[in-house]
Amino acid sequence: MDKKFDVIIVGTGATGLYAALNLPEDINALLVSKKELTLSNSSLAQGGVAAVLDTVHDSYKLHITDTLIAGKYKNTLDAVEKLVTEGPSDVLNIKELGVDFDLNEDGTMCKTLEAGHSRHRIVHHKDSTGKAIVDALIEVVKTRKNITILDNCLVYAIDKVLNGFYVSVVKDGESKTYGCNFCLLATGGIGRVYKYTTNSAIATGDGIAFAYMMGAKIKHLSRIQFHPTAFAAEKDRERFLISEAVRGEGAVLLNCEGRRFASDYDSRGELAPRDVVSNAVIRESIKTHSEKFYLDITHKPAEFVKNRFPMIYERCLEEGVDITVDKIPVFPCQHYLMGGIDVDTNSETSIEGLFAAGECSHTGVHGANRLASNSLLEALVFSRTAANVMTERLRKERKPLGRQPLKKPIEGKALPHGYRSQIREILQDTYFVLPKPEKAEESYNKVEQILSELVSDDFAVTSDYVEARSIAIVASIILEEFKEGIK
Ligand SMILES: Cc1cc2nc3c(=O)[nH]c(=O)nc-3n(C[C@H](O)[C@H](O)[C@H](O)COP(=O)(O)OP(=O)(O)OC[C@H]3O[C@@H](n4cnc5c(N)ncnc54)[C@H](O)[C@@H]3O)c2cc1C
Repeated sequence: MDKKFDVIIVGTGATGLYAALNLPEDINALLVSKKELTLSNSSLAQGGVAAVLDTVHDSYKLHITDTLIAGKYKNTLDAVEKLVTEGPSDVLNIKELGVDFDLNEDGTMCKTLEAGHSRHRIVHHKDSTGKAIVDALIEVVKTRKNITILDNCLVYAIDKVLNGFYVSVVKDGESKTYGCNFCLLATGGIGRVYKYTTNSAIATGDGIAFAYMMGAKIKHLSRIQFHPTAFAAEKDRERFLISEAVRGEGAVLLNCEGRRFASDYDSRGELAPRDVVSNAVIRESIKTHSEKFYLDITHKPAEFVKNRFPMIYERCLEEGVDITVDKIPVFPCQHYLMGGIDVDTNSETSIEGLFAAGECSHTGVHGANRLASNSLLEALVFSRTAANVMTERLRKERKPLGRQPLKKPIEGKALPHGYRSQIREILQDTYFVLPKPEKAEESYNKVEQILSELVSDDFAVTSDYVEARSIAIVASIILEEFKEGIK
């Protein structure tokens, strides 16, 4: 073993960073990210964080109800209650830590509306809330002497032993193994399992794959959210998101004929929950034989649009679309994972000492469909919980880890091209907004075949290999659930 820590946190998105900040100074922790610290889904979050900060015009009851309606009442109620009632103090805490939320003239936080919310309760930093959170938290984490940070450090294996874990990493081509009593997986989503996604390049489901390989319970991986309004750029795998908040501020959704259609499918129109709007787009697409859809906010004053959505404005301009005068081409794509590594309200998985939080976890708060801006809140509440529980246990006792398993060499055969693309094509075709049950069995078998090739051959441990293996594991679980009718 190269070094022993009390806690190892895999991931430096909002989840990993906030967990690290909630560990007291007598707990030493390693915080790792497989690429640069800021490359994550957290950094991409635009709209904001949902929290009841004004109990005169809003209430916990309303936020809970909105979350349950969006989740089709398939949510875990005690997790939702924890999210909604504890979340506001975490939001205020990150504001104290330096997150620059937009403020009203009287110093209160600006609150906007998003689809599915019955009240204005989304606090934000313009349209780049995630970046504001990540940047501020990184600054504070760097000042903490008990936290060792390693970026560009790929975790490729995690072994459970008697009283902890051995976490194997590759950094600068060199393999090392670190021990810890407790491990928190904060590895984010699975977007890269799809051909088109709003997710960052790191979103390959690695944490879910490690947990699965250790035998942890994985739940509802087929509960995937497809966002209705990603910028429709054919050439890009990573599709730029046109935030819900744009519709919240009055943008309308048009079909190829320039006609509004969302309310033909649901009375809430453009402000219905995401799955409903995505469904409406795909059904309208079948009806009109066209994939051309647009979001139109040109009726709003140009200055308002530029000031409220500076990042979206700039990013669309790079694609040749001036959103103050042009309609924005949009189409649904993979956006978020509601399922994941199953955890209890302490954020602990079915494996003792293994914790998971954020997008890689399944707390049950989102049910069948996440309410907009509830995921950053979930990341904060459940990562703080994990940090508190790990601290409590470490203060009671620090047990010797147990024998380190034999380590396999990382050298091996080069990975042939094409495994990942094949899986992405399969998922995009079989399990998108309107899934195709008739293809479930065949698609599952194809992915299982790829997975067995990946694990039976001696491939070199590179990021390509680790990510291909994770993608194959995640895809096979999704398709198995689909095939078996579990959702
Ligand atoms: C475009 C976009 C907009 C969004 N907007 C909002 C919004 O407005 N409000 C909201 O609430 N939610 C939003 N979301 C969702 C939200 O951003 C994410 O669910 C949340 O930030 C996930 O945080 P996380 O910390 O769990 O994961 P991430 O932020 O994705 O972080 C994952 C971390 O794990 C690390 N990692 C992964 N695998 C390994 C490995 N093998 N070895 C080492 N490190 C590893 C990565 O390097 C990274 O640091 C948005 C998501 C996207 C994609």
